Amino acid sequence: MPELPEVESLTGFLREQAVGRTILGVDVVAIQALKTFDPPVTALGGLTVTGVSRHGKFLDLDCDGVHLVIHLARAGWLRWREDLSGAKPVRPGKGPLAVRVRLAPDDEGRAPGFELTEAGTQKRLAVYVTKNPDEVPGIAALGPDPLDESFTPAALKSIVSGNRTQIKGLLRDQKVIAGIGNAYSDEVLHAARMSPFKIASTLTDAQIADLHEAIVTTLREAVERAHGLAAKDLKAEKKSGLRVHNRTGQPCDVCGDTIREVSFADSSLQYCPTCQTGGKPLADRRLSRLLK
Ligand SMILES: [Zn+2]
Repeated sequence: MPELPEVESLTGFLREQAVGRTILGVDVVAIQALKTFDPPVTALGGLTVTGVSRHGKFLDLDCDGVHLVIHLARAGWLRWREDLSGAKPVRPGKGPLAVRVRLAPDDEGRAPGFELTEAGTQKRLAVYVTKNPDEVPGIAALGPDPLDESFTPAALKSIVSGNRTQIKGLLRDQKVIAGIGNAYSDEVLHAARMSPFKIASTLTDAQIADLHEAIVTTLREAVERAHGLAAKDLKAEKKSGLRVHNRTGQPCDVCGDTIREVSFADSSLQYCPTCQTGGKPLADRRLSRLLK
């Protein structure tokens, strides 16, 4: 799942590739992905891409004041295509292709563009065509961006104060902090040497400062690693940069202990017992629920 660093990189990539180009057309193959009807998606045809920006995990292509907003969700991805002029017309209901954005041909006759794909059966990829991206419900509800300068230790303190949720859940809640998902919340908590089950409101000022440092450093480093990579190389880069997430059974880089996994909400999380929980494995609640 693309999170803040990957979406930031895709933003830069699209800015370089697409700004200044005219949109020939946007083909919506997976009709359920399109969440808006006014303006219609055909309104994008003939407009020029004037800017690309990011809101949390949302990509925003400004096309002369009409915005194409994209949320890749859990299994979505963006694939850049150097030349779509020979591409077959898309038929709904076949394969992972959800949306195709075709750009006008360049001087050499190549018509580049990009495709949004979604693997799996749960279709959550979403696109919006809107004059005001702030009206997209997921964007309107976003918490502060952790790479924004206003995200200070004091801002984090006001977020955790009085919040009785587990810190793992708080970090991935887009309404609380924008852009962090399942992978980077594991990474941040490992860097902060903090149990994922710790209750947010119990953090001391020193722990809040450590957590803030871990959030900003982890995301900035991931953004730097992803910077300048082509869309197709981002997935591998994300995977290779992770220290605990999806590394169950492997040794921790920091202390050599074995990385463990425990269920959390609708998925699972990974952590290092020595670094994060005083050496004690966390109880798997999903298992105990099944045994009842
Ligand atoms: Zn460790």
